[in-house]
Amino acid sequence: MPVLALLDGTLADPAHPLIRVDDLGVMRGDGIFETVLVVDGKPRELGPHFDRLVRSAAMLDLPEPSRADFDRATQAVLDNWTGGSEIALKWVYTRGVEGGDGTPTGFALGLEIAEKVKRQRASGISAVTLDRGFDADAAVRAPWLLLGAKTLSYAVNMAALREAERRGAEEVIFTTSDGSVLEGPTSTLIAVTGRTLRTPPATIGILPGTTQAALFRAAEREGWSVKTEPIQVPELSEADGIFLASSVRKITRVHTLDGVQLTDSTALHGELTRLYDSEY
Ligand code: PLP
Repeated sequence: MPVLALLDGTLADPAHPLIRVDDLGVMRGDGIFETVLVVDGKPRELGPHFDRLVRSAAMLDLPEPSRADFDRATQAVLDNWTGGSEIALKWVYTRGVEGGDGTPTGFALGLEIAEKVKRQRASGISAVTLDRGFDADAAVRAPWLLLGAKTLSYAVNMAALREAERRGAEEVIFTTSDGSVLEGPTSTLIAVTGRTLRTPPATIGILPGTTQAALFRAAEREGWSVKTEPIQVPELSEADGIFLASSVRKITRVHTLDGVQLTDSTALHGELTRLYDSEY
């Protein structure tokens, strides 16, 4: 059963209407969100998620979200959760109603982890590369595109996933029009060669991932080399393994890219999962 809490800590029925139809989050996708993984009642990477919410708010010129408000709503969700051992905890923060006083609409919503995600964590995924339609300099040249903000405008990301399905794959790795690797529609790309982990830099127009950061922290502690640097598309199939990381999917192995089966990275996946889990 989903659990919904407002920023003042009161609970609301998730099956009943809450948002006004003229909320700009609904009308224009004008707002931001985060999804936090909670395991056995403990939220993971809470600080980095909140810092990213603040960063997204600044990019959209939204009022700075209050940590106390989101902590209160989060606690109310955790206190009232009766579902499984893991929760996908969403924080949503919109520009509020059109023509209103500018007060944002905010809430926290606890959801079960989808079965499909659990299956993919174990079995890995097939992915296709799709052109995101901008070059590697677009984020710096055109900040109004909000590349790298976690906005509610995810229609493009969802359309890309449907395109992947049409091509017989489950996931997408976005690329720039000049051949650099970006990220998945809801995940960070990590490429592994030997004992080196690589991920593209946020400046290229992607979201800095909290899961990737946690994995890199753990890996560095155990003597791996970690690099945040541009990755070109051909390097994906040359790597020992490529992975899509996000709070909810954790570290998911990509076994097939653009219809071609990649080197078996099952053992590497086990090692990365052990590293990631060692953080908690
Ligand atoms: N990139 C995008 C576009 C995302 O939507 C997400 C998460 O949903 C990520 C990367 C991964 O971020 P995190 O590991 O913090 O969940």
